[in-house]
Amino acid sequence: MNIIIFGPPGAGKGTQSKFLVEKLKSFQVSTGDMLRDEINNDTEIGKKIITNMNEGKFVDDEIVNNLLKNIIFDLKKKNKLIFDGYPRTINQAKNLEILLKKSNQKIDHIFFLNVNKDAIIKRLEKRKILEKRSDDEKNTILKRYDTYMEITKPVLDYYSKNKNFHELDGSMEIGNISQKIEEIVS
Ligand code: AMP
Repeated sequence: MNIIIFGPPGAGKGTQSKFLVEKLKSFQVSTGDMLRDEINNDTEIGKKIITNMNEGKFVDDEIVNNLLKNIIFDLKKKNKLIFDGYPRTINQAKNLEILLKKSNQKIDHIFFLNVNKDAIIKRLEKRKILEKRSDDEKNTILKRYDTYMEITKPVLDYYSKNKNFHELDGSMEIGNISQKIEEIVS
């Protein structure tokens, strides 16, 4: 089963992805984690993207799409992909569709974790204290939210027509959200 977890920054995509990875013995595809690794390893890509990431802007589609290619064609991960934070642009959604088709796969479920702006700000400010992510700072949080509304929201509209699209109240308790997801994927 391939699943997309969709939602604004701070919606709980990572948490629910990890739940699904455990439950379905799948692989989390977090482009955010992959990009942070590039920065931490001081790679050429890392040097290119650090400013955008710290400013709460998106990394170029070309860079992100390239990171994804190997994973989709990895036979070990075939039909065991949990997308967390990808796709975030219409271009990425189309790229994903092409890559999945080429590798004879499809998306089985799309979960949208819906959380309002005030709740997101509170959550991410809390996360900053725990995880010390440099982009969990108030101004950057607001920028990331605006970027989401402007560029990612159209992707949501694109997916919401899909019959396997499920909108969940992302402000519920983590366990309740997991339970609802579990009911749907079981
Ligand atoms: P995340 O860990 O998913 O919240 O992502 C952290 C940051 O990484 C985002 O604010 C973007 O700067 C960058 N990023 C992660 N995924 C993508 C993506 N699919 N497209 C563009 N930028 C991304």
